[in-house]
Amino acid sequence: MRGKLTVGNWKMNGGLTANLALLVALLAAWKAPDQRRVGICVPFPYLGQARDLLDGSAIAWGAQDVSAHVSGAYTGEVSAAMLAEFGCRHVLVGHSERRQLHGETDDEVAAKAVAALDGGLTPIVCIGETLAEREAGQTHQVVGRQLDAVTAVLGERKALIVLAYEPVWAIGTGRTASPGEAQAVHAFLRQKLTAGGAEGVMILYGGSVKAANAADLFAMPDIDGGLVGGASLDANEFLAIAAA
Ligand code: PEP
Repeated sequence: MRGKLTVGNWKMNGGLTANLALLVALLAAWKAPDQRRVGICVPFPYLGQARDLLDGSAIAWGAQDVSAHVSGAYTGEVSAAMLAEFGCRHVLVGHSERRQLHGETDDEVAAKAVAALDGGLTPIVCIGETLAEREAGQTHQVVGRQLDAVTAVLGERKALIVLAYEPVWAIGTGRTASPGEAQAVHAFLRQKLTAGGAEGVMILYGGSVKAANAADLFAMPDIDGGLVGGASLDANEFLAIAAA
């Protein structure tokens, strides 16, 4: 039983005062019904605030990126051990904004997934095709390549990741994949994971998820919840998605 998981990606948004209001609202309302779990990924400077407010609650917190290295001369980077010290349970790796704006390659994303697991964190591995790739009929080829790069280096530990399918054309655009379009890709990914003995991996959908479309997406058999960007900054909207 995989249950449902909703993770909020705050991206580079927030501030101490706004975060406080958002986290207090989430804490007041989220009672973790049945098999549903909720987490957030906050900017590095706010990890201490997240830990102070969320410790002991049913809301997990984590980061949006992690270094592939353990320690050393890597100015600006943050290691998995540092994240674990702040109580993080999960970390995004390979978000499309990191792949596109920072040139992260499949191999680098795989190395980050390894570093996260080595540091005791669950990597939420983000994969997805661009609009041009979808229109060229390359969706399965692209997401399959991105997933294979990670599973190849993880071996048996691939069963410990969370996967997030996020079509690049749907992220922050207001254009969501239809439940059928998303399910088709999730089924393909599930089949690959199952063939590798990792059928229990949760596969989240991300890309303009809102309260209005979450229930239809999450009703699909291979969609185990959502990775939510913009809508995770609004407590009511995020809670409605998590409850969908
Ligand atoms: C994301 O940042 O992972 C994301 C899916 O963003 P949005 O929900 O805003 O499309």
